[in-house]
Amino acid sequence: MSSSIHAEPPPPIVTEPLTNINYATGPALGKGGFAICHRAERYEGSKPTGQLLALKIVKTKMEPAKLAQKFVSELQIHSKLVHPNIVAFYRAFAFHTSIYVVLELCPNGSLADMLKKRKFLTLPEIRRFVIQICGAVKYLHHRHIVHRDLKTGNLFLDKDMNVKVGDFGLAALLVTEKEMELKRRTTMCGTPNYLAPEILEKGKGHNEKVDLWSIGVIAYTLAVGKAPFHASTKEEIYKKLKQGEYKWPELSATNNDISNDLRVTVASLLVPEDMRPSPDEIVSQDFFKIAYVPAGVPSSAREKAPVWM
Ligand code: ADP
Repeated sequence: MSSSIHAEPPPPIVTEPLTNINYATGPALGKGGFAICHRAERYEGSKPTGQLLALKIVKTKMEPAKLAQKFVSELQIHSKLVHPNIVAFYRAFAFHTSIYVVLELCPNGSLADMLKKRKFLTLPEIRRFVIQICGAVKYLHHRHIVHRDLKTGNLFLDKDMNVKVGDFGLAALLVTEKEMELKRRTTMCGTPNYLAPEILEKGKGHNEKVDLWSIGVIAYTLAVGKAPFHASTKEEIYKKLKQGEYKWPELSATNNDISNDLRVTVASLLVPEDMRPSPDEIVSQDFFKIAYVPAGVPSSAREKAPVWM
């Protein structure tokens, strides 16, 4: 996502008001549309604790309406979530002209970064990552929370290469239909590659089923290296989406072994909303059940395909 935020470095020490906690800021981890993220170490007074964190810095120069829109969901929703596959939210505070959000550090980047290096992932990696994503989505949906922006760039990797769902900026607590519709209309932005087709239809696409569609898009993207409805313009993507038109590449095009079971899983998700399987149903499919799911992915997999026995 391109960014309009100021990218000047944060102060070397950020102080949390009304506490004894300081953060020594380190190198930048990445930049989004609304924020820049830096590695930081937590200090108690002047004593380093050795605890490394991600410090997300949001310039409050942002238009107040936009800021409120983004942060009401991001802070209110994210701060209540505790799950092994969701980026842990520790605290948020204001310091000087910025809002700081202290998050669990995901030092291995995102699945989008991994794809950039690798082009596509092996089937065992896809199984493990998609199972982890399904676990997080089940947890969210059980709490009536829809993430609404699941994509490889929002799926971070912790130090042990576990997937952590992050960026709750578009997440919504399912309230009334009317409120959801308003929120949807005012917050739609970014790449449409992962959008469920019902979102394009006015008055639809605000239930948790949109996240299931995104899981289908993610599974396809991890195997192929491109989103299924990939095109060079938004209009073309919309057209393909509406027609549900996607193709699997010839095997020789990616050299990846895209199993038939994976195609079945993706096909089960890229369908009208009422037909999409739940997270539990997804992981009960043959793709996950009758093949190898690794107990872990080595961090070398960021650069190079692991060799599975
Ligand atoms: P925005 O809300 O502006 O979209 P993001 O939440 O996507 O911002 O964060 C911006 C960038 O910071 C991400 O693309 C990623 O590179 C990095 N980042 C965000 N959260 C973390 C984290 N917990 N650990 C490591 N890097 C992170």
